[in-house]
Amino acid sequence: MATKFPEAQRRLFMNVFVCKKCKSKRRSTMQKVLEGKIICKKCGCKAFRPLRKAK
Ligand SMILES: [Zn+2]
Repeated sequence: MATKFPEAQRRLFMNVFVCKKCKSKRRSTMQKVLEGKIICKKCGCKAFRPLRKAK
């Protein structure tokens, strides 16, 4: 939660997000996630976070 900017820039290129409930991954753009357009196929929730560990 701390350093947002350098990391966030990198995440923009990854475009992989993880559902906060069931932790399934989805590919999408940051834009769509922020707009709430991305819905988890499994649990149907809209709470996503960027994939943290990029190897
Ligand atoms: Zn889910």
